[in-house]
Amino acid sequence: MKKLIAGNWKMNGTLSSAGDLARSLVGGLGKSSDLAEKLDFCVCPPFLHLEKVQGVLAAQGAVALGAQDCALTVNGAYTGDISAEMLLDIGCRYVILGHSERRQYHGETDEMVAAKAAKAHEKGLVAIICVGETEKERESSLAEEVVGGQIRKSLPASANAENTVIAYEPVWAIGTGKTPTAEDVKAMHAFIRGILKEKLDNPDAIRILYGGSVKPENAGVLLNIDNVDGALIGGASLKAEQFLAIAAAAAV
Ligand code: PEP
Repeated sequence: MKKLIAGNWKMNGTLSSAGDLARSLVGGLGKSSDLAEKLDFCVCPPFLHLEKVQGVLAAQGAVALGAQDCALTVNGAYTGDISAEMLLDIGCRYVILGHSERRQYHGETDEMVAAKAAKAHEKGLVAIICVGETEKERESSLAEEVVGGQIRKSLPASANAENTVIAYEPVWAIGTGKTPTAEDVKAMHAFIRGILKEKLDNPDAIRILYGGSVKPENAGVLLNIDNVDGALIGGASLKAEQFLAIAAAAAV
């Protein structure tokens, strides 16, 4: 399967810098067309920058647009929320759901993530569902139990290999510069594939991304581990040359 290289721009940038970053990405990919052929790409800017970034990406077509969250309801009286339908309307193909920062700062539960994913699926969006253990949970040998529970509860009945991507992101590796060992990543991704067998008809076809301090320096190792089908990249996705260097490491 083609690896997916996804950028999570989080709450960064301005309208103008988002447009510049998208242009640099598109320009860089234009110069290395084999990357665009070998890999799938997506970037997830803040909601307010989606339209601007879509305008840049649409001209080239190699990078899909994604959002960082969606509402768990359909359109209506939900002040401040953004629905899956609105994301589709603005040109999104992907939506990140259940990122650890949303779980931590917005109290999102597995059940809420499943409800959001169901709404995303209804509108034809691909849900990138994030799971991952805290440092304390890993140190207490609870990583598999936690991640297994999150997957069992965060995937709605509508999930399949086409409309869902799993992102394994150990919470302690996000934005910290720390990463698990290659052995630990391999073991967790194999474990996740096993859990997905309980939920899906074709678990081998679903993409399982690794996320957490992926940089050009470690991408060659992390992205060439069995069952690692791409990366969800935070900090390094804010610099086009770093994002593209990670992609190049994934494409070998
Ligand atoms: C993320 O926020 O999804 C992430 C992986 O961040 P970083 O790459 O900065 O660790």
